[in-house]
Amino acid sequence: MQKIKIHDKVFEPYLTADRIRARIAELGKEISNDFVGEKVILLGVLNGSFIVMADLAREIDLHVTCEFLRISSYSGIETTGKVKSILGLNIDLKDCSVIIVEDIVDTGISMKYLVEELEKQKPKKIAIATLLFKKEAFRFNYPLDYVGFEIPNKFVVGYGLDYDGLGRNLKDIYQLSIT
Ligand code: 5GP
Repeated sequence: MQKIKIHDKVFEPYLTADRIRARIAELGKEISNDFVGEKVILLGVLNGSFIVMADLAREIDLHVTCEFLRISSYSGIETTGKVKSILGLNIDLKDCSVIIVEDIVDTGISMKYLVEELEKQKPKKIAIATLLFKKEAFRFNYPLDYVGFEIPNKFVVGYGLDYDGLGRNLKDIYQLSIT
């Protein structure tokens, strides 16, 4: 694997597609064992999760519903500043086992917000699956149930993750080069 350039930044190879595939298969097995007999909804957080969702869903040996949502952040007219909202979630989660599927958890702010919002719908349980976890950047202590890889606090692209709109379609994951 070689370094790549996106816009003005250079990225170094970090996780190969093969390693990612193998780890996702392990997570899929774990989830398949943990959710036998339950009504499972996989809930992908767009845009970044579209690839991990496609791969993870196919490694789960159960009937599952696949849904997506988007978390929007915008500056409202109120002086409180940033306001978040959930877009695109049109199903009832009541009594379902929801597995949120993310590409990355960094500070954990987005995930915390999402879990709190989803809990209002009284699902049976909410589990979190994330391919990548920046443990050093994480500001909370809620549990992450299925983590693909713990990674250092460096910017990554590929396999769904973008840099300024590009890089999502890379098969491997790359890390920002500091040189
Ligand atoms: P949070 O800080 O709320 O956990 O993460 C918010 C969002 O920031 C993630 O869902 C992801 O879209 C983005 N993000 C965090 N770290 C990275 C990274 O290293 N690379 C990319 N491409 N996006 C990231």
